[in-house]
Amino acid sequence: MIKDINTVKDSFLDADVCIIGTGAAGITLGLELANSGKKVIMLESGSMQKTQVSQSFYDLENTNLAIDPNSRIRAFGGTTTVWGGGWKPLDPIDFEQRDWVPFSGWPMTRETLSPYYERAAKVFSGPALETFDVQNVSKFSKNNYILDTNNVKTTFLRILPHEKWDFAKNYQKLFEQSASVDVFFNAPVTKIVLDNKHQKVSELLVQTVLGKKFNIRAGYYVVACGGIENARLLLFSDVGNQNDQVGRYYMDHPKFVSGNVMLKTRDLNLSLYWKPQNINGLAIAGLQLSEDVQRNLGVLNSYVHFLPGYVSDQYAFLALKVFASNNVLSKTFRALMRFYTGISKVQVRNFMEQTPSPENRISLSDRKDMFDNPLAKVEWSLSALDKQSLFALHTVLKKELEQSGVGRLASPICEHTETFASIRDASHHMGTTRMGGDPRYSVVDENCKVHSIDNLFVAGSSVFPTSGHANPTATIIALTIRLADHLKSS
Ligand SMILES: Cc1cc2nc3c(=O)[nH]c(=O)nc-3n(C[C@H](O)[C@H](O)[C@H](O)COP(=O)(O)OP(=O)(O)OC[C@H]3O[C@@H](n4cnc5c(N)ncnc54)[C@H](O)[C@@H]3O)c2cc1C
Repeated sequence: MIKDINTVKDSFLDADVCIIGTGAAGITLGLELANSGKKVIMLESGSMQKTQVSQSFYDLENTNLAIDPNSRIRAFGGTTTVWGGGWKPLDPIDFEQRDWVPFSGWPMTRETLSPYYERAAKVFSGPALETFDVQNVSKFSKNNYILDTNNVKTTFLRILPHEKWDFAKNYQKLFEQSASVDVFFNAPVTKIVLDNKHQKVSELLVQTVLGKKFNIRAGYYVVACGGIENARLLLFSDVGNQNDQVGRYYMDHPKFVSGNVMLKTRDLNLSLYWKPQNINGLAIAGLQLSEDVQRNLGVLNSYVHFLPGYVSDQYAFLALKVFASNNVLSKTFRALMRFYTGISKVQVRNFMEQTPSPENRISLSDRKDMFDNPLAKVEWSLSALDKQSLFALHTVLKKELEQSGVGRLASPICEHTETFASIRDASHHMGTTRMGGDPRYSVVDENCKVHSIDNLFVAGSSVFPTSGHANPTATIIALTIRLADHLKSS
């Protein structure tokens, strides 16, 4: 059932499991628990569409690098209503305790998570793990140039079929018809309340814009509000933060364009590095340092894509203008352009892995939302290791591109003239309730349970101890399926 909570008469609601949030994490958990015999309540702050009011809870205060105001959607389906459907598992090295990366190391290996990646792919029509293997992709991609050496590896981001992107559209009916899962719209959780001993959640408070108040009680509670909001809700409820860890280690995948490869020949088909191609499903390629090189140089796992540059930027601009229309002139012009222009250079688009630093953090702002709860304050900047890792990637890439005859990389990063001023939020908000074995340096355990609280769990990228460079949602879903198994057996 899906209902506006304002239409509910009883102000006390109960369930076996209560999920806060209906984004990729919340919906995955709801789907997994739907036929488990458990009664589930899902609380969604917004409704089918985002509104000015629902988005107002996402206002935030920023220092240093900025969070994109469009990177979080407060509505049913959460940010899946606008995301790009990119699907990429983390690499095995991302899970390791890397001596050169402070606070690195997951309490599980990639092998532990692999079966859950496979299940995640089955539930959401995603790609199987074997389709990320460069050998498999090469077999089906004969016309594309693929750079893969001992030092620089090609890696793939796969894209879900477009009709599978929006979880709200795809699962609305299923939840409307569910007898075991009740989804309540317009139900922002305004406080997590603990029992007297501070060992268990006793209830959640929900306040609505129309002035109604509800108390929600459940056996287990799962916070699934997104990478920034998970921390904000725990912080303003004063829950799970005995060791001052909630909100710390914020990570993103800072992205920006810097560097040009002047190609030796226009005949090289590099388009797989900027345009999704159908290779047993859509895939786009990127380049990263091999695990050995990352280990030897002591650097993070950042990667790059390319963007095409035309023979002349002037022609490219004209081409873009004409491509946008569809009259006879534009068709003729397009044909001429195809003949006359070629791709003579590519720009380098960087996606960085960040060091999990306790100083990069979500804390509470002095500014408040309409229910008098503090908004999020985000302190986020690059570390020396973040920059050094990109320098290493560009330096090795430059050598490999030249040796393999692809072209010459002109890179402000190699030349130490890059200002990093054009860095943008990739809308991947991670690390703020990190997973770990030691409560002094983490917020949740390997089952995503808040260390000090018996019945409170966290779902989403806030539990990632490190982020690799992979877009986070495949890993969010895999971890959530694992959490669902744990709750089913609890
Ligand atoms: C433009 C864009 C493109 C992207 N492309 C990709 C991509 O290609 N691949 C990829 O992997 N990732 C991508 N991402 C990131 C991806 O969308 C997120 O990682 C993912 O959707 C996060 O899911 P989530 O469930 O953790 O959080 P969210 O989607 O943020 O969901 C949180 C939910 O909680 C609700 N909520 C919040 N607070 C409360 C409260 N107090 N009470 C009740 N409900 C609450 C919200 O309304 C929302 O429904 C993209 C993001 C953007 C913005």
